[in-house]
Amino acid sequence: MAAGVELGLVAAAEPGGGWRLRSPYFPSKVGGRPAWLGEVGLPGTAALRCGLCHQPRAFLLQLYAPLPDRPDAFHRTLFVFACRNAACYRLPGPRGPLCVFRNQLPRRNNIYPEEPPPEDPSPPGAASAPPRRLRSGAALCCVCGCPGPRSCEICRCANYCSPEHQALDWRRGHRRSCGLLSAIDESADAIPEHNEFLFPEYEILIEPEEPECPADSSVDPDDEQGAADTSKDPKEQEELRATGSADEAFQSSDEETLEAMAKHESEEDKVFQMFKEQVDAEPEQILRYCRGGEQIWVSGENIPEEKDIPNCVCGAKRIFEFQIMPQLLNHLQVDSLGESIDWGTLVVYTCADNCGEGDQYLEEFIWKQDFSASSFFTELLS
Ligand SMILES: [Zn+2]
Ligand SMILES: [Zn+2]
Ligand SMILES: [Zn+2]
Ligand SMILES: [Zn+2]
Repeated sequence: MAAGVELGLVAAAEPGGGWRLRSPYFPSKVGGRPAWLGEVGLPGTAALRCGLCHQPRAFLLQLYAPLPDRPDAFHRTLFVFACRNAACYRLPGPRGPLCVFRNQLPRRNNIYPEEPPPEDPSPPGAASAPPRRLRSGAALCCVCGCPGPRSCEICRCANYCSPEHQALDWRRGHRRSCGLLSAIDESADAIPEHNEFLFPEYEILIEPEEPECPADSSVDPDDEQGAADTSKDPKEQEELRATGSADEAFQSSDEETLEAMAKHESEEDKVFQMFKEQVDAEPEQILRYCRGGEQIWVSGENIPEEKDIPNCVCGAKRIFEFQIMPQLLNHLQVDSLGESIDWGTLVVYTCADNCGEGDQYLEEFIWKQDFSASSFFTELLS
């Protein structure tokens, strides 16, 4: 079933190396605009609006994850979008500020050649800047790179996904360039690379997770197994939660309460320590990929049960495919003195059957888990 875990690390694009992050090169990348794979059934403005504040979500990352044994998924990419509003990240769980889409194409399709594109050095004519339009001619929003069916009423040269992005672009400078944008600019076929709505752009490099070297593992393997089982069993977690907090108010004895709390906290520490060990082996990991494998949790709290993960529209179950780690936050320039965009881990589940008809973009499921308060303090004290 699942092969080993693969880790994603970020790499700054080399100057002039932006072409590697565009659609013909099937990139895995963070930030900037999406490098769309298929050109039909792209998620529209409504699907991309935040479930909480209803503002357009920004493109967070995409992962090129073909399935070698599936001719219909010779090319396959997962796209994650995230709201830019920090207040939308207060609650854990599904929906809300995040969403994920899956798209796939067979090897023979009407967009990309059957043979892989030439690699370094930069092939002549490879576009470095993100495109203004899809090859089909459909316009993309010049702010966010998502489908842009609206255009500026005055010049008709600038396209937008939403009134919000039209207003943002007007303030950023379209006010001055509107009307001056000529057919020449339009034919340049590229748009300014960056704006404050977009997350910074990086390439994601994928490498296998090094198997743990037995020599420097001080942990008794049996012990570790026990801890792993704990993190996997949501029912047990549920019981722990119940003994740890829900019943507190009804405990007659303070001592019992304290004991229960201590037990809850030590279980909590165990889950968090497991997480830390996995991360310490490669502290730069921003994502972990293992389709059909196991996620690692940052906390014993707020782990979804099977019923919390909805089946795919085709009726099949969804399975774990990858998770985004908190390390990614360090690369997003989202730190601020007040509230900022935050998560412990974001876990993506996709259709076990990898269904797909007509090359559409299909929405999959993403779950946000936060650090628990106790693991946060453990970390501070360690
Ligand atoms: Zn929001
Ligand atoms: Zn937009
Ligand atoms: Zn205009
Ligand atoms: Zn499905």
